[in-house]
Amino acid sequence: MVKMTDLNTIDKPNWCPGCGDFGILVALKGAIIELNIEPENVAIISGIGCSGKVPHWVRTYGLHGIHGRALPVASATKLSNHELTVFAVGGDGDGYGIGMCHFIHAMRRNINMTYIVHNNMIYGLTTGQTSPTSEKGMRTKSTPSGVIEVPVNPIALAISSGATFVARSFAGDVKHLQKTIVDAVKHRGFSLVDVFQQCVSYNHINTYDWYKQRVYDLTTVGHDPADKMKAFARAQEWGDHIPIGVFYKVLTPTYEDELPQIKDVPLVKQAIDKIDVSGLMDDFV
Ligand code: SF4
Repeated sequence: MVKMTDLNTIDKPNWCPGCGDFGILVALKGAIIELNIEPENVAIISGIGCSGKVPHWVRTYGLHGIHGRALPVASATKLSNHELTVFAVGGDGDGYGIGMCHFIHAMRRNINMTYIVHNNMIYGLTTGQTSPTSEKGMRTKSTPSGVIEVPVNPIALAISSGATFVARSFAGDVKHLQKTIVDAVKHRGFSLVDVFQQCVSYNHINTYDWYKQRVYDLTTVGHDPADKMKAFARAQEWGDHIPIGVFYKVLTPTYEDELPQIKDVPLVKQAIDKIDVSGLMDDFV
């Protein structure tokens, strides 16, 4: 049985005190424990941003990659060994900004992995610039007169781009978030878990209290995640009442299921005794 101590690393998180990232880290570890997946069977791939530190603080395989590229690296990891449980982790700037093209293409491929987005509606690591999900009118360092553009709606975008599990949760509700991550991992296909995450240092509008007063769980209104049109409608809800939970879920063949070369046997098992990788290992390890 996997325990919390099995997942701890020697480093301690250095996020700002009160940051929502702590809740996401606890929920992610809790989900791995609940699913009882051995750490050596998990890979966590991140991009750049405060969220990018997650692989440093969960004792599994992991890679802290480059800005916006968590999804292509996570996709390659999964296709190399699709028996691994693969998480991609990023922020709203990382995933919905520079990584937007990867976001759309990973979803339409339906690779069986889970993408957790720390969505704090601001660039935190670079000290408070407008992100793709910053609300219209929001004043930040980069938009002192207010954001002009309409924010990206990741939930609606994911539903229309082919993601087969689309959910939102809240870092301030660790129980809900952990359950959502567990359900996302259990789902066979690409799972998006967009997480409202308070950035206490640079977003003083979308705070813990702001989310807490607004979020409601879709299960309380009898939402049917199999209904795509209703999922779209729920994805448009914003303002005083904002839904969290599973918006949309459908089962379709995964990319791995349809790729003849790996359909039956993971690539890593086919190649392990046929290709000499010692030169590569010498270079990289
Ligand atoms: Fe968290 Fe914001 Fe601090 Fe980054 S800058 S660690 S997102 S509170």
